[in-house]
This record gives sequence, C-alpha cells and structure tokens, in this order.
Amino acid sequence: MVERLYLDWNASAPTCPAAREAAIAALLAGGNASSVHAEGRASRGIVETTRRAIGQRFGVSHEGVTFTSGGTEANVMALRPGVTRDGTAPVERLITAATEHPAVLAGAGFHPHDVTVLPVDSDGRVRPERLDAALNADPRPALVSLMAANNETGILTDPALFTLARERGAVTHTDAVQAFGRVPEAAMPADLVTVSGHKIGAPPGVGALIRRAGVTVPPLIRGGGQERGARGGTENVPAIAGLAAALEGPAADPLAWRDTEAARNAFEASLLEKFPEATIFGRAAPRLPNTSLFALGAPAELALIGLDLAGIAVSSGSACSSGKVSVSHVLIAMGVSDAVARCAIRASVGPLGAERAFERFLVALGEVIVPMTR
Ligand code: PLP
Repeated sequence: MVERLYLDWNASAPTCPAAREAAIAALLAGGNASSVHAEGRASRGIVETTRRAIGQRFGVSHEGVTFTSGGTEANVMALRPGVTRDGTAPVERLITAATEHPAVLAGAGFHPHDVTVLPVDSDGRVRPERLDAALNADPRPALVSLMAANNETGILTDPALFTLARERGAVTHTDAVQAFGRVPEAAMPADLVTVSGHKIGAPPGVGALIRRAGVTVPPLIRGGGQERGARGGTENVPAIAGLAAALEGPAADPLAWRDTEAARNAFEASLLEKFPEATIFGRAAPRLPNTSLFALGAPAELALIGLDLAGIAVSSGSACSSGKVSVSHVLIAMGVSDAVARCAIRASVGPLGAERAFERFLVALGEVIVPMTR
C-alpha cells in the first residue's frame, strides 16, 4: 500500500489530534450550552472560552464573535442589506470581485441589480482605481467584500483596499477562510471577517463572523435567542471545542507556515525546470505560503485520478466543488484561456513537512503527468 500524501489543505485541513480529542470529550460530556445545569454550564464555558480566543486574535471584544455553521453561513450572514457601521445608514449595495468564493459571488441577500462585481488583473488582484470607481458610481451606502486570500490561487488581497473603501464610507467584509491562521490578522483589516474551523484543523461545521465595534449585522437565522440573538440554533459545542484546540495548533500559527513558503517556491522553480511549458498562476502576486496552482497541459480531471492512484490527494480549481471538475471562474477572471484553466492542478500543503511533500509531489508529477501529455 502506497503511503498517502495529502496536499489538499485548502479544501480541508486534517483534523488535528488535539482538536479531535477536545471534540470527542465534548461529545461524551454532552450538554446544551443554553441549559442551566452543570452539563449546560460546562458547554457554555467551552463556547465562551473559544469566543474570547477568537476575539483576542482579531482585537475585538468577545461580543463581536458569532458562531455559525461555517464560512459559507458567515459570508451569507455578513452580506445583506441592513448592515451598518457607527449608526450610519444601512448598506444597500454590494461591491465584490470576480474571483470570490461562490457564496459571496451569489450576492447573498442583495438583489443582483445591487451587486457590482469588480474585475481582477492577470495577477488576480483588484486594482484600487476600479474599486474607487465603483464606490463613486452610486451614492448609496456600500458593503465591500474582498477575500483575504483566494482558495484556488492563494493570491492575497491588498489590505490597502479595505482602507480605501472605509475612507469612502463603505462597510468592509473579508472572507478570511483561507487566510486565517496562515497570515497575520493584520492582513485582514475589515469591519467584518469570516473564518471557518475546518481550514485550521478543527472539525467541519463551525465558523464565525467577527464584527468590529460599532458594526451591526441583522440576524440571518432567528430562533431561540442563541448567540445573543445574533444567530438562532444550538451551538455546535463539540466542533467549537475542537476549534479552541485547533487555535493552539500549528495550522493556526502564521509563524509555523513560514517555511512552507520557501518549500513552495523551490517546488515551483523545480517545476519550471522540469516542465518548461508549465504555467504557474499568480506567481507574481503575494500569495498564501502553502498554495501552488499550475497547469502542465494534462486535463485536471485525468491528472487528479492519476495522482490519486499514486497516493496523492490534490485538487483542481475550486476546492468547495471537488468531485465536480468544472472550469475555474477564478482563472477565467484572470484572463486564462478555457483550455489552460481546464488543466489547473492545486497543491496546498500543511505547515509541517512541506519540503518533503513537495519533493514527492514533483516526482509523482513526472511519473503521472508526462505520459498523459505525450
Ligand atoms: N470561503 C472560502 C474562500 C473557502 O475556501 C471556503 C471553503 O472552501 C468557504 C468560504 C466555505 O467555508 P465552509 O466550508 O466552512 O462553509
């Protein structure tokens, strides 16, 4: 049996051992965080400790952290008319970018007429003048949502765009699902920030929307008053317990990811030596340290199967729609041809052992992909 090599951390990080243990302990203990008895109070303790830990990382009060079922729900909750900052008029329109996650691009609560989708340049970045023009084009209060890091390319959004939008009076949101834990929080200076547990080693099914002071978001799910009325539904205590443990692990520590960048860069240099015809996407832009998206000329669909048989798990294009290999809207937005985009393979490593992982991957690419391109 060939040893598996998991290079799909952007889809989901493996649940880290401490998170698994914490989640199991919470499952065994049981208890509803809204109950007054000892079991309930213990669950409440887990929820509130985790809330404080997340708030601290972003420099916001624990009251600014609302637990959700994950990144998708936090995005949908944030992107709705009615969001306000400092008591100003509620936002009525959304400005976002063509490379965003589908949950954001779908416009959440905004009517399609009220959604402006900004183009990106060939480096996958929004030009400030485009944002400026969109802000000036309509006097209605805007919500600007730009992802901190792209899930396919790893390309980072320039934090200066949030400053620009704020200066124009817009409320800002960032989908930091991929960036959280991998780059410092300072790179995500938005009024509203979305994070998700399963990208940093927590069990799936938990995320959070982080609100800076003065920002209000109407509840998306009304119910039994949980989360101080911000989000109805019994909190997922085992996943939240896992999230607390994952926050202490390497996948949530930007320092732990630092060596990954050197390993990724060395891999890409070797890739171009070995396959001079390779295209590496977003190489000129600042990127997440762990992500490499490239095309070698073999259809991604075949490449993924070949690599899987060789023991290696990678992804093509959008991680959230894995299982369905469709052409990447991110690459198309960057001006990549349909034919090249269909060959895009994404490798995303974890914070430990990246160098060895990329070395084995490079060898496997030679063995699997070369026969496909002849
Ligand atoms: N946003 C980005 C950038 C993502 O990569 C993903 C998932 O891959 C999501 C949002 C959705 O997060 P979740 O799976 O927690 O709903």
